[in-house]
Order: sequence, then structure tokens, then C-alpha cells
Amino acid sequence: MTANKNYTIKSAREDLDKGQISAQELFNYYRDKINTENKNLNAYLTVFDFPNSKFLIPNSLLAGIPCAIKDNMLIKGTRTTAGSKILENYIASYDATVIKKLRTTGVVFLGKTNLDEFAMGTSTENSAYGPTKNPLDISRVPGGSSGGSAAAVAADLAIFALGSDTGGSVRQPAAMCGIVGLKPTYGRVSRHGLIAMASSFDQIGPLTKTVEDSAIVLNTLCGHDIFDSTTVKKEVPDFTATLNDSIKDLTIGVPKEFFAMPTGRQGAGLSLEVAECVKTTIAKLETLGCKIKEISLPNFEYALATYYIAVPSEVSANLARFDGIRYGYSAQDGENLIDTYFKSRTEGIGPEPIRRIMLGAHALSSGYYDAYYLKAQKVRALIKKDFDDAFKDVDVMVGPTTPNTAFKIGEKASDPLALYLEDIYTVPLNLAGLPGISIPCGFGSQSQMPVGFQIIAKPFDEATLLRVAHQLEQALKTI
Ligand code: GLN
Repeated sequence: MTANKNYTIKSAREDLDKGQISAQELFNYYRDKINTENKNLNAYLTVFDFPNSKFLIPNSLLAGIPCAIKDNMLIKGTRTTAGSKILENYIASYDATVIKKLRTTGVVFLGKTNLDEFAMGTSTENSAYGPTKNPLDISRVPGGSSGGSAAAVAADLAIFALGSDTGGSVRQPAAMCGIVGLKPTYGRVSRHGLIAMASSFDQIGPLTKTVEDSAIVLNTLCGHDIFDSTTVKKEVPDFTATLNDSIKDLTIGVPKEFFAMPTGRQGAGLSLEVAECVKTTIAKLETLGCKIKEISLPNFEYALATYYIAVPSEVSANLARFDGIRYGYSAQDGENLIDTYFKSRTEGIGPEPIRRIMLGAHALSSGYYDAYYLKAQKVRALIKKDFDDAFKDVDVMVGPTTPNTAFKIGEKASDPLALYLEDIYTVPLNLAGLPGISIPCGFGSQSQMPVGFQIIAKPFDEATLLRVAHQLEQALKTI
């Protein structure tokens, strides 16, 4: 057996097909690596054994490929914690739709990865099972909330992973770990069997080492699902087929608000080192024959505030089901039913979800509903309209994925607002339901940590998104 270091789906497929390595050997190679390296990184919460089921499916690019799954997606018969103590011993009773779809390809699941509790966070420091470390510098966070998935792929403890993205949780950790993270259009991928954070925002997406791998995984995930009425009945193209089609003459929009906010307002907080890398990358797109056009998203400055009203509102409703009766942890010393609810939730749910439940319950309460929740819905519509208007003139938009590179563990943990500000470039896409991808575009001149470049496309135009990302990725290799 000759296990190659840092396999992509593509390179592992070649070795498997040539018989240079068997699926079991490939799995063992990753399991051994996890056994030695996970102690330092805490990327995995649960690891699985090699399956007895059929995985050699002819003509499937993913057959025998080992992957990792964020621990908020259900795999039947296995533990699913969502990073919370309240689900510490919860065993999933069915497969999420994405898991069912992956099974048909013969993929092999290595295990479940760490996350901020119920996917609420930006650094994976909010997990009840301890923080995940960034494999490029273990004193730093891997980003979040899919930090376990991003760290697993970046450390080559999996060939690819799935994450969920409510406000950036696939793209942001991908950026901070120097890998590729894709959030599909809202409605592309079923949320059935994903533990809900904010249902009108959540989407599942792949974390991969290359854009081509991202297209391969996306091909499997998409499609209408009778168990998720928000999935659309839309043709799913083969996203790998158009990766090399010309991007010459595409118009690339650069929202001016990404780089400078109106005076007197809270700035986007863009660090110099990220701005430098992103500007160099935009120039690279120009050398590939794209037209660069400055555009405007006038309501961008309200996106973060809108997100942090609308999302906690949905969180407060979605987390009501974790009451100590139906799922997981249950306080044994409750004096009556209400007391059992109180005690189970107080002991089982951590500080960040509690903060959001309280914020959401407040925003939805009568007397405040109009001022907060309803207002946020109106601004959400305006933000969506800004994108629709701007997309009349451009094919894709680009900018930074995050204002800063990976920060030190503990640096922002006590300041929730500082953490929320890290989401400034990612949340607008979830508010508008748009697809986006983060690809690595270099290293910060100060921190020496990876910088993510975000590309945004029109709804359901993942094909163009991946095409631009793939060709830019190839061009960046030659810097
Ligand atoms: N960091 C964002 C938040 O805490 C996004 C989370 C996510 O996408 N799951 O809400």
C-alpha cells in the first residue's frame, strides 16, 4: 500500500482505481492518522469503524473515499451531539438526506466532527466538548462553527467533510484553515436530518481541498427532497462539466462597501493583511480576462444587525424542542414538569445558545415584535433586493471571506460582539439565500495565516461560481 499524503478525491480515486490502495487500506490510513493527531486538534468527536456495507459502486467518483461529517447531521444508529451537552448520548434514529445521498455513492464515513454548540459561533470555542485547534497553528482557532470539519480536512484527517452554513460556518472555517468551503443556494440541498439552527438560513455544504472536489461532492448533495419543502425542483447540472469553460469576459463585481464603510458607521473591520491579499487576487482575475466593475450594496452595513435579530428569533423557536423530555439529557431532580424543563435546559445548554434563545424570545415578544423581528424581515428583503439589482450588471461578486485571519484561542471568547463581527462578509449571502465559496488566496503578511477569497453568484448559479473559483485556484498556484 502506498498511501499518498494529502489525497484529494481525484487523486485517491486514481489510486483506488489503479488498485494501488484498497478502500480498507485507505480508511485504515486515515483512522491511524486520526488516532495519533486528533488528541492535539480535537477535530473529531466520534470515530467509526470500517463499514461492512457495500461501498464499491461502479462509476462513482466517491466510492471508497473517506469523509467526515459535522456532528449536527444525523447518521442512523450513531451519536449526534450538535456540540451540546444536552445531546451527549443522543443516538440518531434516521439518516439525514445528505447522508442517504452520500451512501448511494459508496463513500466511507470516518466520523463526526466538532462544532460550536448547535452551530452557534465563529471559532469552535463554544463546543461543550472543548475547542478545536487550527492545524496550521494550534494556538489559533480553526474558525467556526464547522471548525472540526475544516481542521480535519486541512490536517488531512479526511479527504473531504460536510459542514453547515447559517451565516458563514462552512466558508469562514475554510478560509481560516486554508481550504475550500462552499455554501449552496438556499433550497439546493435538503436540510432534513440537519439539527436546525435557523431554518430559513441553514444550508449544508462541502469542505474540500480543491474546487474540483467541491463540485464532485455538490453533484451528490443537491436535489428536491419530499422531507424538506424548501428544496426546489430544479435540474441539477453536472458541476464538474463546466469547470474549464472560459471565464474570459465575465464581469466581476466588487462591492465598494466591502472595503470602506460610510463614515460615522461601524467599519467592516477589514484588516490590512486580508485587504492586501484580496486586492492582489482581484487583479489576478483581471489578468484572466475578466472585467472588474465596482458595484454598490447600499444596505450591506445593516446585514449583521439584521442577521443577529432574525437568526436568534429562529433559534429560540428551534431549540424549544430540547426540553429534557424528548431528547437527550434530562435533569433527574426536577420537582415537576416545568422545573424539569428549566433544570434540563439550564444544565444541558451552554451560554451562547442561551444568549440567542433570550435575544430571540425578546425580539419575538409582543411589544417588541414590530420593532425588531418585523423590521429585520423588511431589511432582509432590502438586502436581497440590493443583490438582485447588482446582479443585473455582473456575473459574480468577489471580496474577502472574513475581515481577519485565524485569531488566537481565547482572544475573543469573552466578547460575543467581536466574534459576531467576523461574520460581516458571510451573513449577507444567507440573508439573501445566495451561493458562495471561499478559496484560499494566500497568507496574511502579519499573521502568516491563510486568507480566504469569497466568490458570490446568482441564485442556483453554482456552475459559474465553481468555474470562476476553479480557474482562479489554478491561476493562484502560479503566483
Ligand atoms: N458565526 C455565525 C453565527 O454564530 C454563523 C454560524 C453558522 O453559520 N452556523 O451565527
